[in-house]
Order: sequence, then structure tokens, then C-alpha cells
Amino acid sequence: MSTHAAASAATENLVIIGSGPAGWTAAIYAARANLNPLALAGDGLSRDRMPGGQLMWTSEVENFPGFVHGVDGQKLMGTLQQQAERFGTRTKSHYVTRVDFTSRPFKIWHVNDLSGEEEALLTARAVIIATGASANYLGLPSERKFENLGVSACAVCDGALTRFRDQALVVVGGGDSAVEEATYLTKFAARVHLIHRRDALRASKIMAHRALNNPKIVPVWNTVVEEIVGNEAEGVTGVRVKNLLTEKYGTIEARGMFAAIGHTPNTGFLKGQIELDAKGYVVLADGFRSLTSVEGVFAAGDCADPIYRQAISAAGMGCKAAIDAERWLAE
Ligand code: NAP
Repeated sequence: MSTHAAASAATENLVIIGSGPAGWTAAIYAARANLNPLALAGDGLSRDRMPGGQLMWTSEVENFPGFVHGVDGQKLMGTLQQQAERFGTRTKSHYVTRVDFTSRPFKIWHVNDLSGEEEALLTARAVIIATGASANYLGLPSERKFENLGVSACAVCDGALTRFRDQALVVVGGGDSAVEEATYLTKFAARVHLIHRRDALRASKIMAHRALNNPKIVPVWNTVVEEIVGNEAEGVTGVRVKNLLTEKYGTIEARGMFAAIGHTPNTGFLKGQIELDAKGYVVLADGFRSLTSVEGVFAAGDCADPIYRQAISAAGMGCKAAIDAERWLAE
């Protein structure tokens, strides 16, 4: 690992870590305020490190204001990036692994994509954290075994694969993600079993209604997945389930299982540096503002929002973080 003295170019004024709606909106505001922001967008080496974040896997965003007929998630993120860059945001494809916020200027490390080694990247006067959140899995050993063999947490990425076409599939969860994934998969699948551990969906009424009225979606209530079954040649062939009311076990035949059971904030690299809550969300020190427990470090979007987690609320938080950073830098 190299030292920061070795890495050091001039200290950056404002670094934005993350490039979802929160990060790009912060960049738009910061650039227009002449803060010369640098966006560290992610190196794209895995799903969680992808520039653009979760919306890169959302086919149709219908609730982002300004788009009468909805907008493709990738297109929306590309547009936000262009808008941020038009005002002077500089973008680099780095994935941040470590920070030191104990003294100023703040220090930031990343993974060198050629060597794979962690190395000092830069120092910064102020930082906005907008690293979003990543999909959760059930935690079954068989989930790992059948990764890329029928287990997924992203219908938009994987739903069109040949292995899923005209097959029975399973989606686990009862929130907006689950009904969205299930609805999306009906484009390709013969039917989709929507397995939920309770007897009522948590999803918004309009999306739940749409899913439950889709003839290809079969709700399976009060049920949990105990194991994924299959073999190496065929991949997933079904899921072993347990009904929580009757305590009876059964198997649902399916060629794929999509986990849609929520997300975990991408804040592991912040542990010990700023205050996080029990689930890892960044604690905003001043209620409705974007201040964290460290002066000069601000947070926005899903990494700091256990409640709303919408693209538009993340964008709003990004705007607030840039304005807070501007005021703090001016002081
Ligand atoms: P969520 O709302 O937290 O829902 C997670 C679901 O998974 C819940 O139904 C939960 O069950 C279930 N679950 C959690 N852990 C489980 C486990 N270990 N085993 C089985 N089931 C489990 O997460 P989300 O659906 O990803 O949505 C997150 C946020 O994004 C929400 O605010 C949502 O509105 C938003 N979102 C919006 C859209 C859209 O508007 N287009 C699309 C996707 C997401 P319980 O219900 O029993 O807790």
C-alpha cells in the first residue's frame, strides 16, 4: 500500500463518492456553484461497483418527475452524468475502499484496477458520500451454489436469458422490488411464483394491484424458501418451501429464483470513520440536513436513507448535500 504523501497531487476541493441519482445531483449543484467537484463513479468491476448504481438495472422508471411516459434507468443516469459534466464535474472510474476522516484534508484509497491492490488515491477538503445500497440475498448456501445457474437478484439484468424463457420462475419478497421484478419477468417466463413470508404485500398499491392482476403471477403467501434445488447440468430446477402457517414443506418447480428482499447500504468502507446505524446507514447528524458525524463529510441518497429510498428522494438529498458542502467550504 502506498502512502498518501506518495499519491498526493493537489488536494481536491470536493469529492463525491458514488454516481447514482444522489451523486450526480450533488455534482450538478456543486459544479454550478464553482466547487470544481470530482465524482468517483465506481470502476464497474462488479454490480455493486457500477457507475450509475441501481437504476442501471431498472428498465422503466415511471415515477421520476419530468418524464410523462417514464424513462429507461440507464438513459436517466447517462443524462444526469452529462448534465453534471456540462457544468464542469470531472468524473473518474474509481472504486473507493477506504477513507481516513480523522484529520483534514480527508484521505481516500481505491483499488488499482490493473494491479488489484489498494492504493492511496487523493486527499479532499470536503466529501459527499452517495454510495447507495446493494441487493440482499436470502443467505442460503444453495444460493451461492446456483449463482449464475438460475439464482439472481436482478430481473432486468438476467430475466431475458435463454434459461429463463418460457419457464416457471420464483421471485421472493413482498415489496416494490419484488412486484416489479415479478411483473418484468412475465415478459419472458411462462409463470412467476411470487413467494412472500406474510399474507399481504408491502409494495405500493398501484404496483401490487398490477402484479396481482397479472395472470402469469401466482402469489404464494406465508411461505419461505428453505433451499434451492437443482444440479450442475441444469442449474436451478425448483425451490423447497415451507408454509409458515401450516408448517408444511413442499417444492415449487422453477428454473430460476430471483431474490427481491431489500438492500444493504454500501457503507462498509466507512466503518469507524463516521457514525452508522445498526443496519449500516449513515446517520445524518442534523435531521433533515446532510451533515454526518464528521464536519466536512456529507451524505445523500440510499446510503443514508432507510425510509424513502426513491430515485427522486435520493436526488433531493444530493442537492441538499451539495448546498451544505458549499456553505461549509465557504466558512
Ligand atoms: P422493501 O420494501 O424493504 O421490501 C423487502 C421485502 O422483502 C419485504 O416484503 C420483506 O418482507 C421481504 N423480506 C425481507 N427479508 C426477507 C427474508 N430474509 N426472507 C424473505 N423475505 C424477506 O425492499 P424493496 O422492495 O427493495 O424496496 C426498497 C425501497 O425502494 C422501497 O421504498 C420501495 O418503495 C422502493 N422501490 C420503488 C420502486 C418503484 O417505485 N418503481 C421499485 C423498487 C423499489 P416483510 O414485508 O415481511 O417485511
